[in-house]
Amino acid sequence: MAHPRYPHLFETLDLGFTTLKNRAIMGSMHTGLEEVNYKNVIRGLKNRSRDQVADAFAGYQKLAAFYEERAAGGVGLIVTGGVAPNRAGWVLPFAGKMTHFWERRKHEIITEKVHRAGGKIAMQILHAGRYGYHPLAVAPSSIKSPISPFKPKALSKRGVRRTIEDYANCAKQAQLAGYDGVEIMGSEGYLINQFIAKRTNRRTDEWGGSYENRMRFPIEVVKHVREAVGPHFIIIYRLSMLDLVEGGSNLEEVITLGKRIEAAGATIINTGIGWHEARIPTIGTMVPRGGFSWVTRQIKGEVSLPLVTTNRINMPQIAEDILARGDADMVSMARPFLADADLMKKSEDGREDEINTCIACNQACLDHTFELKQATCLVNPRACYETSFNIKPATTRKKIAVVGAGPAGLACAVTSAERGHEVVLYEADSQIGGQFNMAKKIPGKEEFQETLRYFGKQLELHQVKLQLNHRATVEELGQAGFDEVILATGVKPRGLNIPGIDHEKVYSYVDVLKHKKPVGDKVAIIGAGGIGFDVAEYLAHGSTSTSLDVNAFLKEWGIDHSIQAPGGVEGLSKDTPSNPRTIYLCQRKTSKLGAGLGKTTGWIHRTSLKDKNVQMLRGISYQKIDDQGLHIEVQKKDKSTQAQVLEVDHIVVCAGQEPLRDLQSELTEKKISVHLIGGADVAAELDAKRAIRQGTKVAMRL
Ligand code: FAD
Ligand code: NAP
Ligand code: SF4
Repeated sequence: MAHPRYPHLFETLDLGFTTLKNRAIMGSMHTGLEEVNYKNVIRGLKNRSRDQVADAFAGYQKLAAFYEERAAGGVGLIVTGGVAPNRAGWVLPFAGKMTHFWERRKHEIITEKVHRAGGKIAMQILHAGRYGYHPLAVAPSSIKSPISPFKPKALSKRGVRRTIEDYANCAKQAQLAGYDGVEIMGSEGYLINQFIAKRTNRRTDEWGGSYENRMRFPIEVVKHVREAVGPHFIIIYRLSMLDLVEGGSNLEEVITLGKRIEAAGATIINTGIGWHEARIPTIGTMVPRGGFSWVTRQIKGEVSLPLVTTNRINMPQIAEDILARGDADMVSMARPFLADADLMKKSEDGREDEINTCIACNQACLDHTFELKQATCLVNPRACYETSFNIKPATTRKKIAVVGAGPAGLACAVTSAERGHEVVLYEADSQIGGQFNMAKKIPGKEEFQETLRYFGKQLELHQVKLQLNHRATVEELGQAGFDEVILATGVKPRGLNIPGIDHEKVYSYVDVLKHKKPVGDKVAIIGAGGIGFDVAEYLAHGSTSTSLDVNAFLKEWGIDHSIQAPGGVEGLSKDTPSNPRTIYLCQRKTSKLGAGLGKTTGWIHRTSLKDKNVQMLRGISYQKIDDQGLHIEVQKKDKSTQAQVLEVDHIVVCAGQEPLRDLQSELTEKKISVHLIGGADVAAELDAKRAIRQGTKVAMRL
């Protein structure tokens, strides 16, 4: 019987030799568990701790637990993180590879656990080509990529043939390891894409030149893989449908390749959007939900294989709408399954309000991967720590007060109550969320509201006594007989010592974002950290946020809806919404503004503000503020300084924060057990990732 709310999402998919239980794929994600954790080996050796060394080698057990939970959560098909078919194909030195039986044996625990949990799993085969971050990297031509310092060696003709055989061998090994299929990674700018695009393929033999020659490599790969694995094995081909780089493919070429991939023996075609070197956001939180499903639709009817669409699909209704519109036959969600292993189960049971939604921040997943750290999730710190991060029932039921319902306090209150404690959560404001209530007002950060919806529901489910509009005092905390008091009172904006700082034209970011004080046409922002950038984005925006409107987003980033232009971008210009204000974003450091922002998102924020003509000033010394504006001295390249007046209507201070923990000393004097979490503990470099993780961890120990 069809599902009453999501009939398309929960329809089975018959592939002839096997059936998928629904239309959701968990997309490929590298977690960092695939490789030996050498940092932990060194730590273990230093501390003479056998457990730490053993733990460093336990990546596959941890991966198995990670996938097992997602399989039990009901997703139709899981695709693993990329595994290289040979050494040259490594993304990083000693990255996951599958060429020999001892490498495949490590994977058996994964397939076994997933199957036992009732799931299906395919292994992604990924050859990094010139994106390989190591000296053994190879590519069709010896052209360095902008995102790796290593210039690749051009593959010889024999090398090309051998690489195709390596793909086939890798797929065969995956089959023997118990996988239900493989995904051949043909997008995102990796080796296969590098063969296809003129941009990276300058060969003059049968593997380069005409499009017919350039697409020979992926077709041969699929043919050889099919021959190796036989007819009853899933082959997903990840087709780069929108390269978003100059010298990429156009729609006609993509369709031609799709047809040939079908003929070569693929089972499913997945959609790839954007090369890693593209300078257009494809999965950041500013990308509209489901903002690229129109791309997949363009190949509908041209091939008869099931088509998968992807990017920024994070809730069941978005998935259902895409499938119902006929844009695709399946949806792929990757990060949403990091955020919530039970996304599908909750959707099926009508418990959508319990879904811990991926807010597309990248802070704990992709940013970690690019910093060579283990991936996890900002909203779900348990992700990828399934074997060690377990919330167990409390042995003694305690009465706990949590003061402050920002991300840290919310995480702590929910986890404490989940463990069986009696929890009272005090919040001075009229709503839960703390600073997230300001974050969600930034254009492109609307998703942050989902985390507050999630926590709101969890408070209800775990019967936390929430007291809004209630500023907790030392007296009541002392009198109510709490066993533990958790101070999650957050931060206060840092006070500055600039002459004239009390002038009426000076606001704090709280005045602007929370109290909505009217801001004039000319503004200077003091401080260019995450909040300074966000405030600049807020002030630079016209009436609408392009993250809520696909067409406006495509215009803002210069994307060709018809994909006639090579890569969907060549020759197109951006149509950035005009900025109603003159904005100066200032910092004292002489380094590039925004250098401390997320590795995978910082460039988007910088580009977005530059496109809106926000002026970025560095090497600033603040002299004074008066009716004229902000008086500064600017350090020049030769270290001399130049005085300047920024004649502005308002100055918004975004210069960091200090902990707000005024209750602490008196509570301690009264011998009440106090724990500090989030901003109340350490304000420097505080983000929601640390706040939620720390709140959860403290609750696990109470
Ligand atoms: P807070 O969020 O400050 O919450 C503290 C709460 O305690 C408040 O609700 C306050 O009202 C309450 N309180 C204080 N005293 C009392 C009392 N005596 N009684 C009762 N209640 C009290 N982080 C990210 O990771 N990624 C982002 O993209 C991001 N964007 C941001 C954008 C903006 C515009 C802002 C302002 C912040 C952003 N942050 C972001 C930072 C993030 O919101 C904070 O790190 C996080 O909110 C800190 O959580 P917290 O619980 O420690 O404190
Ligand atoms: P921040 O990132 O520490 O930035 C503070 C800014 O103020 C810096 O640019 C600093 O630069 C300046 N500053 C510091 N002391 C100053 C002083 N005494 N006088 C003048 N300027 C001073 O803090 P934030 O912007 O308030 O952000 C708080 C946290 O929220 C961050 O740690 C961040 O992780 C999180 N956040 C994240 C995002 C995101 O997109 N991931 C977005 C928003 C917030 P100079 O010292 O060079 O002047
Ligand atoms: Fe999504 Fe952010 Fe979690 Fe990554 S860290 S899965 S982007 S919520």
